[in-house]
Amino acid sequence: MMLGLASMTAREIRAGLLAGEFSAIEIAREALERVEREDVRVRAFLEVSKKLALEAAARIDAAVAAGRILELGPLAGVPVAFKDNMNLVGTHTTCASKMLDGYASPYTATCVQRCLDAGCIPLGKLNMDEFAFGSSTESSAFGPTRNPWDLDRVPGGSSGGSAAAVAAGLSPLALGSDTGGSIRQPGSFCGVVAVKPTYGAVSRYGVVAFGSSLDQVGPLARTVEDAALALNVLAGHDERDCMSQDRRVDFTANLGEGVAGMRIGLVRSFMSAEGLSSEVRAKVEEAAAKLEAAGAKLEEVELPHVKAAMSAYYVLGPCEAYSNLSRFDAVRYGHRTPGCESLAEQYEASRAEGFGPEARRRIMLGCYLLSSGVYDRYYYRAQQIRTLITRDYAEAFGKVDCILAPVAPTTAFGIGEIGDPTEMYLADMFTTSINIAGNGGMSMPVGLGCESGLPVGVQLIAPAFRDENMLRVAAALEREYGAALVAPGFADERAGE
Ligand code: GLN
Repeated sequence: MMLGLASMTAREIRAGLLAGEFSAIEIAREALERVEREDVRVRAFLEVSKKLALEAAARIDAAVAAGRILELGPLAGVPVAFKDNMNLVGTHTTCASKMLDGYASPYTATCVQRCLDAGCIPLGKLNMDEFAFGSSTESSAFGPTRNPWDLDRVPGGSSGGSAAAVAAGLSPLALGSDTGGSIRQPGSFCGVVAVKPTYGAVSRYGVVAFGSSLDQVGPLARTVEDAALALNVLAGHDERDCMSQDRRVDFTANLGEGVAGMRIGLVRSFMSAEGLSSEVRAKVEEAAAKLEAAGAKLEEVELPHVKAAMSAYYVLGPCEAYSNLSRFDAVRYGHRTPGCESLAEQYEASRAEGFGPEARRRIMLGCYLLSSGVYDRYYYRAQQIRTLITRDYAEAFGKVDCILAPVAPTTAFGIGEIGDPTEMYLADMFTTSINIAGNGGMSMPVGLGCESGLPVGVQLIAPAFRDENMLRVAAALEREYGAALVAPGFADERAGE
């Protein structure tokens, strides 16, 4: 029997399991078969964790058979796949880098463990830009992932595998990480709901660090409710991440409330930004009009210092990356070039071989920016800008409950189309300031662009630890636009799409 998993939401899968319509083993088998059959076109997966998936499914079925239904967690029977910078015992964690090729996860990241504890079926590990540096998943040492909506285009990045897996109906849920836009931008390019919660909402323990003060884990899904269900599982304090906060909310609680009376901000400088394509601008304006018609009050807000966000991000990000990536020294971790005569030679050769061009660029940039004499001019200033941007958002959120903005300036670009790294950095022009300030942001699909015919997401930005505000607005938009679709060419037969 075909379950038709591709078109089912996480909530529906769990409900079907509990109602006895199908077993967890049937779910796991079908999900694994789909990945095997369909992922040759997309290449979202770096590793499929077949054994773990079947074991998890058997445990769930045993609990069902024993009548221990109440013990089943909120993700019981739900396939979930993880970005390959998240450790999961029984899989490798490569960060899509030659540096960590073959590295076996020595422990399991808290975000992954929480999904396992909630009863998920772990499908495997997903492709990404090397060490999460990038916006297209092209910098993966294992080859690019393709956008399920157009296989000649990128899925975005760095969590491109996560967005593509969900868009292709390979997994109803995936986890990604976002340092400057890496959950939201691929979410927009692939037309899925993609949430970067407030910094500190989800533990970073066991996730390979890029920029520790900016990194945040979050879910990608096809419905707002599924993303909220995942957040319920993921969020909370973890004693192994001192920045993780203990704030217990039910993220699904206010999804049905609508936006009547909510104050929604539009940022003038974003809407008039050079480089913003007219089809993306049109979608943001259309979403604003729909929210206004649904009873929200639109207001313009100023974020006077966000124009410096990109400059600050490309100082702070590389500085933190430089520090974090120093552990890959071929002694304690990582690829080692054989036959070197001295330790210095081994460092140099191993790191030159193990890291790809973008990783090397970030490391060299961070090293330079933190050197004496240079530090004051760049790093120190960037930290000052960080304070100003954080204040800008705090002030704006004195006036509005949520901000509506573009996610990325364009829809998905072609594989190989952007060769210049600084041009690639522009993909994050609307997302980095949110990581700098630390508040929550998400991409919400709002249909296809009128020129490219490709998915467009709008960004919803919430005050720190008020992620439920943006989810509520997202749910209202979902009622207007309908739930995100599985990409054409990937919907399964039963759905008849
Ligand atoms: N694309 C951005 C960068 O290259 C953001 C990456 C991320 O969020 N991990 O740094």
